[in-house]
Amino acid sequence: MIRVGVVGAGGRMGSTVCRLVLAEKDLKLTAAVERRDHPDLGRQVGDCPLVSNLHESLGLVDVLVDFALAADIPDRARAAAVTGKAYVCGVTGLSDEAMEEVRRASAKIAVVYAANFSVGVSVLNRLATYAAGLLGPGYDIEIVEAHHRQKRDAPSGTAKNLAESLGRTGPGKQVPVHSIRAGDVVGDHTVVLAGPGERLELTHRATSREVFAYGTLRAIRFVAAAKPGFYSLSDVLAVR
Ligand code: NAD
Repeated sequence: MIRVGVVGAGGRMGSTVCRLVLAEKDLKLTAAVERRDHPDLGRQVGDCPLVSNLHESLGLVDVLVDFALAADIPDRARAAAVTGKAYVCGVTGLSDEAMEEVRRASAKIAVVYAANFSVGVSVLNRLATYAAGLLGPGYDIEIVEAHHRQKRDAPSGTAKNLAESLGRTGPGKQVPVHSIRAGDVVGDHTVVLAGPGERLELTHRATSREVFAYGTLRAIRFVAAAKPGFYSLSDVLAVR
């Protein structure tokens, strides 16, 4: 049985992960953590109350899952490393320093970081870089992404990753990203490859947050058994 703690448990992603963890036989939700002034503190999430004390919660878990705010990531990554708890982080919009702290933690603990936990986006990444290689340097590559109006960061972490991989394997220059923040869009990403007289568009649409949460469950099982190190979703998916 893997004991799981979720930070940001009252949020959109955190609550979805909690709900899915509660339905799994080999996972047990043992901590649900929120910010100190969250209105629902004390409310039951499965068998555990929503609490704000991260350090007490760390004592109850094997894996800490983080879907809270980017600003506090260095503190949480350090706390997980000090207590030797595996860490799954899906928060986007991390500064370079925050990402560095997460990497530093991975010297002591197993860490999975993914800006997007959907298997489909992982496949989109591979298809798009393959297409860019086939089409060659005469084709322009741009990315269009859309998310709900509450999303804090733009461009999305997923679009940044796509742009980075395409810049490396495609035109060797920065791939422009166009961001739309509107309504309740869960997450759309389109890679446009346009050349003389034609345009190829590869689109991924997340229609439910559960897709990210299912990927997170796979990351939890992976990280619980992994040696210290920094792992991506590709590492997780390589284990079937
Ligand atoms: P949200 O605003 O709904 O949830 C964030 C929650 O974190 C809130 O409930 C907030 O109160 C809580 N929080 C803030 N500070 C905290 C603290 N110090 N301690 C504990 N809890 C704290 O946001 P969301 O839509 O759930 O997204 C959360 C993050 O996950 C964002 O960075 C988003 O981009 C990212 N995200 C990642 C994926 C993925 O697949 N990796 C998918 C969707 C969203």
